[in-house]
Amino acid sequence: MFKVLSRGPAFARLWGAARSTTRVAPLCSITTTTRSQRYLSQTPSLLTSSIPIRALSRPPPSGLLRRGQRRHYQGYDRYGRPLHDVKPLITADGFKRVARSPGTHAVVVLAFGGACIFYFANLETVPVSGRTRFNVYGAEAVREAGEMQYKAILYQLEQQGGRILPEWDWRTTRVRKVMEKLIPFSGMAGEDWEIYVIDDPKTANAFVLPGGKVFVFSGILPMARSDSALAAVLGHEIAHNVADHVSERMSQAIGTNILLYSLMALTGFIGFGPLLMHYFGSRLLDITFGNPMSRLQESEADYIGLMMMAEACYDPAEAVKFWAYMESAKVADVPEWLSTHPSNENRIKKIQEWLPEAIDRRKQSDCHTTTAFADLFKRALSRGVIIVG
Ligand SMILES: [Zn+2]
Repeated sequence: MFKVLSRGPAFARLWGAARSTTRVAPLCSITTTTRSQRYLSQTPSLLTSSIPIRALSRPPPSGLLRRGQRRHYQGYDRYGRPLHDVKPLITADGFKRVARSPGTHAVVVLAFGGACIFYFANLETVPVSGRTRFNVYGAEAVREAGEMQYKAILYQLEQQGGRILPEWDWRTTRVRKVMEKLIPFSGMAGEDWEIYVIDDPKTANAFVLPGGKVFVFSGILPMARSDSALAAVLGHEIAHNVADHVSERMSQAIGTNILLYSLMALTGFIGFGPLLMHYFGSRLLDITFGNPMSRLQESEADYIGLMMMAEACYDPAEAVKFWAYMESAKVADVPEWLSTHPSNENRIKKIQEWLPEAIDRRKQSDCHTTTAFADLFKRALSRGVIIVG
């Protein structure tokens, strides 16, 4: 049904070698600057293109230089004209002219109409919660994205000297035991589930990739003080795949990217406009669209995971205790509107609201006839409730 992958002696050697070296900041931030500075001081021409080199090496007509003007700070084009006299490609007047043109209006109306048709043609219902959402990606595309992410995570882990616990480790065994009990109730027993427990006692986290690869940081295991609490964590992770949350986020990124690049184009006539828009605009879009979507998905995964653990005969009340414990162990917090996750307080409140339904499901569930419930879980919940985050 699923397997536990572990790293052998080769990985241990790699890990040992990696640990013996000092951790450094990302290469792009250090080496680029140093190298540029070295080249700039020794061979400035290497960093400039062929046309400006010729223009700069040619003395400008004397009439173009003002008294006291420092020649080496002044740039000239190929005709010897000071660069500040050269007109920019996009000007405010030019932009206004284009914005007022009937042709532009027609393009905007057509683009908006096309976007609306595209949006409504790709609406679907989340199988468990009954929520309507926009999704353009099929299962295969998401699986491929998950596979790429998986390779990137393993590479990053090796680079940082991380270690995946072996199959026989008691922490891996504990996770596997709970997963084995949950998966038949997920409606995704056919998935090729793989468990990776990362040896990192300081990190209390877990995540799942499309395709069934579940990553658990060992730091979360002491926080989940019972198997039911661990089932709440793992049920939540499995639920992200049941509800296909990654494809929904990838679909949302299409809209936000179009919006961001349109705003960057609109600010093209202001010097650093596009750059500033990219920086601040992407953060604003995260706060406006990305974070609320993420919080909604987290809440939805809490609901689906809670029902799943109840069906698997774990005690759903332990989910409340787990989040209360996480809240008490928390060091710092950011306001919920800035966060991709709901606050623990809101999480607990919602889970308490869903608790009677979960307890009811546990009473009705026959935990031993799992095959009958494998698909029943999805069918029973497809009536669902709408969760508004
Ligand atoms: Zn989550």
